[in-house]
Amino acid sequence: MHAGKANKSYLAVKTCVVCQRPFTWRKKWEKVWDEVKYCSEQCKRNKPQNSTGSQTPTT
Ligand SMILES: [Zn+2]
Repeated sequence: MHAGKANKSYLAVKTCVVCQRPFTWRKKWEKVWDEVKYCSEQCKRNKPQNSTGSQTPTT
């Protein structure tokens, strides 16, 4: 092993569940990176809706 590269900033990559495009880690996500699923707020709003959701009859 050649220990030459140290302190190299690691940029994680995820795939947006909406547009299926890879996006990289951002500073604003450092606290919630495990929960991030969308590349942007726009995709977050365009997230697929459950067509067959649970319909709870209100009586
Ligand atoms: Zn996206």
